[in-house]
Amino acid sequence: MVPRPTRKAAQAKSTAIAMSKTSKPAKPTEPKRTPKRKAAPAEPESDFDDKDSGDDFDPAEDKENEAKKPAPKKRKTAAAKKDTGDDMALATRTAIPSLKRAMYIGAHVSAAGGVQNSIPNASNIGANAFALFLKSQRKWSSPPLADDAKTQFHALLKQHAYDAGKHVLPHGSYLVNLAQADAAKAAQAYDNFVDDLRRCDALGIALYNFHPGSSGGAPMPDACARIAAQLNRAHAATSSVVTVLENMCGSGNVVGGRFEHLRDIIALVDDKARVGVCLDTCHTFAAGYDMRTPEAFAATVAEFDAVVGLKYLRAFHLNDSKAPFASHRDLHANIGTGFLGLRAFHSVVNHEAFQGLPMVLETPIDEKGPDGKTVENKQVWADEIKLLESLIGMDPESAEFKEKEAELQMKGASERQKIQEQVDKKAEKDAAKGTKAKGKAKSKGKKKKKDEDSCDSCRESD
Ligand SMILES: [Zn+2]
Ligand SMILES: [Zn+2]
Repeated sequence: MVPRPTRKAAQAKSTAIAMSKTSKPAKPTEPKRTPKRKAAPAEPESDFDDKDSGDDFDPAEDKENEAKKPAPKKRKTAAAKKDTGDDMALATRTAIPSLKRAMYIGAHVSAAGGVQNSIPNASNIGANAFALFLKSQRKWSSPPLADDAKTQFHALLKQHAYDAGKHVLPHGSYLVNLAQADAAKAAQAYDNFVDDLRRCDALGIALYNFHPGSSGGAPMPDACARIAAQLNRAHAATSSVVTVLENMCGSGNVVGGRFEHLRDIIALVDDKARVGVCLDTCHTFAAGYDMRTPEAFAATVAEFDAVVGLKYLRAFHLNDSKAPFASHRDLHANIGTGFLGLRAFHSVVNHEAFQGLPMVLETPIDEKGPDGKTVENKQVWADEIKLLESLIGMDPESAEFKEKEAELQMKGASERQKIQEQVDKKAEKDAAKGTKAKGKAKSKGKKKKKDEDSCDSCRESD
């Protein structure tokens, strides 16, 4: 899944504030920054923190305000936001040089209310990298990028010291299928896609992540060729953004479940400098590439290198998996609670060659509030970022690691068991049905929809 730009964010706000008030010091701590950041023509630290610390940035709230009353114009400027800052960041960003390996870990944050809002949202959870949607991911048409949003995006990037050329990884629309064979639909997909790439160019963003698409039942090589053709056209129409194919968990007609699909698309892309791959740990595992042990992790990395080439690896989505190995189900779990387990993530964040790549959490943060309503708890991401950073250089044989590993496995036990039972049941059914392959696909699709409600990446059976 990828978090939705939230309607629930307003509710989450109260939770987040409550949490930050109870679990954090009363005063926001100074963000630890890299020497480079310190040297930047910086504003005073306190000023930075004021602007930085607000859930008043909450885009959903901004929208509500705009709808209900004449929008206080003040809210739209950084200065005004500083004034209304009444709560604090959920975590401070870790200075990269303080880590034994330069891992830029963050999450897919909300950009509701404007792309510029993603930046304080990322900073507030202590993210050193982040993903966002550049426009509504569920609508075919969106207003053009506002000049104001663009200006603020650039200003906030600078202020928060994020490098849009390296650590900002927008996620493409779920509607877009570049493998689409129907001419009219393919044109619509292309228009949406290239519009996003132009937004990247305007915002100085160098990487753009998207799901390869669905073959719609056509032969896979044809689907890969159509994707590559669309990419070639989009590359010619834009200046420099790198289009980053995400690997998928490989069910049904979805392109990208096998590393070979990615290889075949890349092979047909004219400008190889404009194409890359984002590995989603949950998808990788669910697709049948193991990462649980150091040996399995090394074998998977070696296979990726042999088939695709590590030079194409541009980003990670860090998600555990609620579904077992090779189940081809896209169910993201919180780090360490799923079938991948903490050891897999230890391998990822300690792998030297992955340094500098954006690593983005898409883990579930919905929780039931006291009133029974679902609220987003962004503290979950803030904590997961710190957890992953803490694994860098940690001895996986240490008591500290083993305790954390066991604690998180315990936390996810019932969820894993639930999904395991579903997978087993389905396997039994399939075995009983024998060759009835078509019927199988149908019932699978139905079940999936229900189970994977919370996971947006699962458009597995188009
Ligand atoms: Zn993903
Ligand atoms: Zn997914």
